[in-house]
Amino acid sequence: MEAGSAETEQPLEMEVEEEEVAPIYKEPPKIKLLEESVVNRIAAGEVVQRPVSAVKELVENSLDADSTSISVVVKDGGLKLIQVSDDGHGIRYEDLPILCERHTTSKLSHFEDLQTIQSMGFRGEALASMTYVGHVTVTTIMKGQLHGYRATYRDGVMEQEPKPCAAVKGTQIMVENLFYNMIARRKTLQNSADDYPKIVDLLSRFAIHHINVSFSCRKHGAARADVHSVATSSRLDAIRSVYGVSVARNLIKIEAFDDESSSSVFKMEGFISNSNYIGKKITMVLFINNRLVECGALKRAVEIVYSATLPKASKPFIYMSIILPSEHVDVNVHPTKREVSLLHQEIIIEKIQSAVESRLRNSNECRTFQEQTVDASTSSLLATQKDSPKNRTPPSSQTPKSEKVPVHKMVRIDSLDPAGRLHAYLQATPSSQADKSSLASIRSAIRQRRNPRETADLTSVQELVNIIDSNYHSGLLDTIRNCTYIGMADEVFALIQHNTHLYLANVVNLSKELMYQQVLRRFAHFNAIQLSDPAPLADLLMLALKEEDLDAEGEENYDLKEKIAEMNIQLLKQKAEMLQEYFGIHIDTNGNLSRLPVILDQYTPDMDRVPEFVLCLGNDVDWDDEKICFQTIAAALGNFYAMHPPLLPNPSGEGLQFYKRRVSSNCHQAGGGSSKDADDAAVESEYDDELLADAENAWAHREWSIQHILFPSMRLFFKPLTSMASNGTFVRVASLEKLYKIFERC
Ligand code: ADP
Ligand code: MG
Repeated sequence: MEAGSAETEQPLEMEVEEEEVAPIYKEPPKIKLLEESVVNRIAAGEVVQRPVSAVKELVENSLDADSTSISVVVKDGGLKLIQVSDDGHGIRYEDLPILCERHTTSKLSHFEDLQTIQSMGFRGEALASMTYVGHVTVTTIMKGQLHGYRATYRDGVMEQEPKPCAAVKGTQIMVENLFYNMIARRKTLQNSADDYPKIVDLLSRFAIHHINVSFSCRKHGAARADVHSVATSSRLDAIRSVYGVSVARNLIKIEAFDDESSSSVFKMEGFISNSNYIGKKITMVLFINNRLVECGALKRAVEIVYSATLPKASKPFIYMSIILPSEHVDVNVHPTKREVSLLHQEIIIEKIQSAVESRLRNSNECRTFQEQTVDASTSSLLATQKDSPKNRTPPSSQTPKSEKVPVHKMVRIDSLDPAGRLHAYLQATPSSQADKSSLASIRSAIRQRRNPRETADLTSVQELVNIIDSNYHSGLLDTIRNCTYIGMADEVFALIQHNTHLYLANVVNLSKELMYQQVLRRFAHFNAIQLSDPAPLADLLMLALKEEDLDAEGEENYDLKEKIAEMNIQLLKQKAEMLQEYFGIHIDTNGNLSRLPVILDQYTPDMDRVPEFVLCLGNDVDWDDEKICFQTIAAALGNFYAMHPPLLPNPSGEGLQFYKRRVSSNCHQAGGGSSKDADDAAVESEYDDELLADAENAWAHREWSIQHILFPSMRLFFKPLTSMASNGTFVRVASLEKLYKIFERC
């Protein structure tokens, strides 16, 4: 009684204290040992958090019992009934009385055994927990017995002597009325979406890993099972029967391993989805040493690779099974063993990540090759259709579209090149040869090919990527992968630390090169940044041309600029289809720029640089040679998307001057410092707040992007050029050992 009243008064006392009224003296509440039943029920709530956690424990027990067939029946999302039946080794009659007591297990005797334990269970808590929060009935029969036994349990205790009964081989465990004695839990579960889909998901995962076991899962009373797998020797067959043909068809096999005992030892095998697989969300089925677990870090790492290499298929399906020496895995970090902790986790994740990355790239190549064969064989069909190559769909659906296409952009079937297009790119001959023979047909091919996936491996792009991949500076690569970003040292240099060295790194150069590399890697696979107001090319070009020479203001000059702009507009309109298809730069028929590509996720370039970029596209791109054309467009994009200092001066420090309001002059021109002293004196402390806020925002945003987008992305994708070690992009400024020595002397 006394303790009860203390409990209710306590919160009141806290409130009083908060309002700083004189505290009432109160004796500390007495500490007492909780009753065992209370302890058990609290612990049970942790192990069996919701119906799906009970199912997981029961199925794992069945797997531990060497079953080859496991079936699950669920009623009312598991709250009314969970029944798991298996054909495993069964339970001894004499073990039944203690079966559901806490800490009774057949799997572990000594703590040291944990290091090498292979079974999924070992804590002896699951069944006990279930009896504290539900009614448990166990029916079991061992091999060679004439009949089985049935026993019921409550609060860890067997209720009566086991009763003999008829039984089929194995064990059936029934949990009824889960959480009958935990009203709050039951209510929240009843209100929340029911657990059945989670249970189906769980069984699906088990089914594609333990392929020598057949699984089924159905709702009580339903004739059809929602998961139904038969034992097989092919993982792909298992995935097909559980997740469907659409998933299985789009999978590629993946493997990775490491056997250097100094760093990490592991072997990974699995299947991952290719660029054709479009999922609503990522599905990651992960088994570590045959335990179904979750690993957020690995999941994120894989997701990043997908969004970087296959942005359109960035919600992949992943199945991975990782095997490590059991002494490298700590299985005892989570009450339901859902998470495990690994030795050398970071190295393992990194290795798996790069395996995924290279596998995705290679798979693209294979795909295109296959498609090319198909195209060649259907060339006559294409030739008679006189339509674009994606036209496998009924012609009626395209008629309106093809009517709109201007005559000069219509597909021409070159008589010298009857297959039309793909092989012009896919043949092994160097592109220069192709140039000589039929540059015109290549151009028309570029224009009329619409399906980006088919284009993603043009030889010339692959060559450019190969140059990046084969000529990087390995020392710098290591520095970038393992460095810590400290902060910006000035407007261009970031300070980074690697081991005991400090470096200054030029973020403009680095981001420019990173963007260039990513453009080539994402070639023809870009997501779009939609401009809220499409910008007329004419205006953009005129803006850029004016910026180029500020003093030449004459009429004549203006005419000349208009002519240059007009020529560029025509050129870019002509190239619009190619720019859209390969680079995600969309120019509409009215000559407006309306879309730009996503080069790094979550990053949008500084829109103040659009005019310069458009001019650069018009002026600096070499449109005649395919490879140089792609290279120069990628470079123009790289320069545009690079993390340049914002055009508005940095308001922290000297740049603040720029934002002082002048009485008579426009603040945009005030930067030139042409105003009179008198004006300055009169409005000394007044600033153009709006502009100042814009500038502060722009600078803060850039710094954020450098820290949270540039450096993390570089760690994953960047291949530093050899020249960066000597051209001032990376400068080593200090070595900490030397600094420490200096400090020691002080
Ligand atoms: P743990 O799995 O951690 O040992 P449990 O409470 O899950 O603890 O199970 C207790 C024991 O009951 C197991 O060690 C095992 O010997 C036995 N057992 C449970 N389920 C089965 C089953 N389906 N078939 C055979 N034995 C089982
Ligand atoms: Mg168990």
